[in-house]
Amino acid sequence: MVHSLIKSLDLVDDYDGLQQGQDSDDEPDTQDGESDGVDDSHSTKQQQEQEKGRVNGNSNGNKKGLSAAEPGYEVNGDKDYRRAVIVGPDERLGTKECLLKYHDTAYVEALLNHRGSSPPARNPTNPASPSSSSKETQPRRYPRTDPFNLSHDNPPFPSLPRYISYVASATSTACRLLVKDKVDIALCWDGGRHHAKRKEAGGFCYVNDLVMGCLLLSREGRIPVPQKEGEEATRQRTRPPRILYLDLDLHYSDGVSSAFASPTRYPYPLQKGKAVPRPPSVLTLSVHHSSPIFFPPPSPPSLLPEPDTPNPFSLSLPLAAYPSASTYKGVWQDCIEPIGQAWDPDFVVLQLGVDGLPGDRVGQYGNWAVEGEGGMKWCVSQLMKWDKKTCITGGGGYHHANAARAWAGVTASLLGRETDSDTAIPHHDHFEAYEPSFTMEVPAGHMRDENTAKDLDKARDVYKTISQRINDIVAAHS
Ligand SMILES: [Zn+2]
Repeated sequence: MVHSLIKSLDLVDDYDGLQQGQDSDDEPDTQDGESDGVDDSHSTKQQQEQEKGRVNGNSNGNKKGLSAAEPGYEVNGDKDYRRAVIVGPDERLGTKECLLKYHDTAYVEALLNHRGSSPPARNPTNPASPSSSSKETQPRRYPRTDPFNLSHDNPPFPSLPRYISYVASATSTACRLLVKDKVDIALCWDGGRHHAKRKEAGGFCYVNDLVMGCLLLSREGRIPVPQKEGEEATRQRTRPPRILYLDLDLHYSDGVSSAFASPTRYPYPLQKGKAVPRPPSVLTLSVHHSSPIFFPPPSPPSLLPEPDTPNPFSLSLPLAAYPSASTYKGVWQDCIEPIGQAWDPDFVVLQLGVDGLPGDRVGQYGNWAVEGEGGMKWCVSQLMKWDKKTCITGGGGYHHANAARAWAGVTASLLGRETDSDTAIPHHDHFEAYEPSFTMEVPAGHMRDENTAKDLDKARDVYKTISQRINDIVAAHS
C-alpha cells in the first residue's frame, strides 16, 4: 500500500525513471555472489517485482541524493516536482551465498527448501505478546515445533525463498547505493526485519536485511584517510566506517543488537597508559517500549544501560507505555543527538517502524505522531541535519493505512514536498482503505504518556556519560 500511495502522490519517477536510475557500474563484487549467474537489473522478473523491493534513491540530475536542501533539483526536466528514483533490488545481493554472510547454513537451507508443509500460523497478525486488554501477565509461550522457529508468528509459505531473497537484496542494494556514492539517502520501506536472528526466525522476520546491509557497509564502505607524514603514497590508506544503527520501532531490535554486540569490554574510566580497545564498526541504539508483557521479553541488553556499561556500543532506551511525540522529542535531543555527535557515523541505518503510532493493532502501546515536533517527520528532519549517508527502512506497522501514510509522508518530506494532515489521498487502487477521512491524517492518540520527566532525566544522565565515553574511545583511535 505504501508504494501505491507514494506513486499516487507523484513522489517517484515512472518506470522510465527506474531504467534511467540503473547504473551500469553497479556490479557486485565476487564476495556477493557474482558467480550465481543471475542477470543484472533489467531482468523481466526484476521489472515485475519492482513494487516489492522498493528502493528509492535518486541518481540522476545534477545533485545526488534525496536531500531536501537542494533547490532547483530536476528530474525529467520538471523542476517543480522533485521525485525519488526507483531502483530495483539487485538479486545478486539476495543469493544463498549472501544470506550465509550472516545466517547459519542449516537455517538458510531450511528457509530456501521449505515446501510449506508446516501447519499455518494460529493467527499470523497476532504476535506472541498479549494484547493490552488481555489478562495475561506474561507473553504467550507457544511450543516450538522446529529448531528454527518457523511457526506461529513466522509461518513458512510457498514463496518464502523468493520473499527472503527480495527482502535481503533490497536493503543491501540501498546500502550499496550509499557506498557507491550514487545517493545520499536510500529508502527501503519493505526492509527492516529486525527480529530475525542468525539461525532463528522471530516476530514476523525471517532474514535480517538490516544486519546484512550493515555488514555490506562495513565491508565495502571503508573510508579513505590521509597518508601519514613521510609515508610513501603507494596505496590509499583506509579505515573501517563507523555505522550507526538506530531503531525507532516500538519493539526492541533484538536481532540486530545481538548480531553486533561486541565481545570487547571497554573500561570506564579509560586507564592512562593502557591501550584503548578499538571501537566496533557498528553502534546499535534501539529506542523501544519495554515491559514484561511486551514482545520481545525484556533482557539485560534491552534495558537502560548503566553509565559504566562494558559495552557502550550496544545501547537501548526502553520507554514506558504510550510514548508521545513530546517523549520522542526529549529522547532525540537528550539521548540520540549526543550519541550521534560522539560517534560521528559515516553511515546511518534508520529502522523506522511505525507500530508506535496510535491504533496499531500489534504495537498497542503506541502514542507517537507523524506530524509536529517530536513526530516521525521531525525526527527524520533532525537526522538529516547530521548530513550523513543514510538508509531508512520500514519495520513494524500493522495499521496498513496509517503505515502507508507515515512512510509516504516521510518520503514527501525528504523530497521537500511536504504533505500534512489535510493533504487529500489521491484516487488510486487502495483509495477506499483511507476512509473515513481520505486524507494523510493519522488520528492522534489520547492515551496518557506514562513516561515521566524523572525517567527521561535518568536516561539523559546515562546517555551523557556514555556519549563522552564513545567520544573518548573514538578519539583514541583517530
Ligand atoms: Zn515492531
